[in-house]
Amino acid sequence: MNPSFSSYLVNDVFGDPGVYVEVRWSKRALLFDLGHNDRLGPRKLLHANDIFISHTHVDHFIGFDAVLRVALGRGKTVRLLGPPGLINNVQGKLQGYTWNLVDGYPLTLDVQEFHPQEVRRALFRATDGFRQVEQPARPLLPEPATGKFTVLNDPMFTVSAVSLNHRVPSFAYSLEEQFHINVNKQKLHEANLPVGSWLKDVKEYIWQGQPDEFRFTATLYDKHHREERELVLGEIKERFCTISRGQKISYVVDARYDEENEAKIVALVQGSDLFYCESPYLEVDAGKARDRYHLTAKQAGLMARKAQVRDLVVFHFSPRYTGQGEALEREAMEAFQRI
Ligand SMILES: [Zn+2]
Ligand SMILES: [Zn+2]
Repeated sequence: MNPSFSSYLVNDVFGDPGVYVEVRWSKRALLFDLGHNDRLGPRKLLHANDIFISHTHVDHFIGFDAVLRVALGRGKTVRLLGPPGLINNVQGKLQGYTWNLVDGYPLTLDVQEFHPQEVRRALFRATDGFRQVEQPARPLLPEPATGKFTVLNDPMFTVSAVSLNHRVPSFAYSLEEQFHINVNKQKLHEANLPVGSWLKDVKEYIWQGQPDEFRFTATLYDKHHREERELVLGEIKERFCTISRGQKISYVVDARYDEENEAKIVALVQGSDLFYCESPYLEVDAGKARDRYHLTAKQAGLMARKAQVRDLVVFHFSPRYTGQGEALEREAMEAFQRI
């Protein structure tokens, strides 16, 4: 099976936190947090149209400028989603520069902040000198039992969040593919159908929920010839596609270990294939972790176990442990019972 998402840390485990998620078969990517991100390079930064911010402490937001820089002059919308205060923070960043020569640039920043009961939204357009234009708020209804709410709904996936206590709200996120579509290339070959971009369209139609009787025109071509053929979605689905459980990737940073945070985290990340969790401190320094509203490696491992995730990646290590990265990793994996 070819997974739809491929994800990795933006920096090494001691660097600024952030996870980049590539969506296969598209030029699309999701980015969790905006710490230093030069390592991604301009092409990858440009593909990240949906950016999820945990909170705006400097190590999670200093990379905003890099995104702005590469996106300027591109005809696109970058969506930034995060906790209360994000609109002001973005405005503050934008006001730090002079914008008298960008009115030909079609870039729009769409910023949405999630309050306990509503989503506030503002647009900043380059054509308008990045003046803040408020949009109507919409209601938000978190799940009462878990505090979980939806941040982004796409035909292919959903991104949900919970708000954690880090002395300021810090959002944890979970990305869930609705379901996974696998195309059997061998069967296509046997039926004399070439692999090609028409399969991307097929997936798109299935994600959109088009009915089985839906007809579409596929452009089929190989080395020797090219033809347009009308196909029926249901037939293609039945003969060549396998639909299975989707991938789930979770991202948790900067949060204190307490009962409420733990319950929210475990509910959000339950059953993830991959769980990225901060673990800045060793358990011997649990007091310091608590004072600074952070987790220890052991706590990260315990929550991964409780949430029955498949794989755990720990990161956002405190520089005090430089040279001891392995100890943090080992402590988390022991609590996760993987070693
Ligand atoms: Zn923080
Ligand atoms: Zn941090």
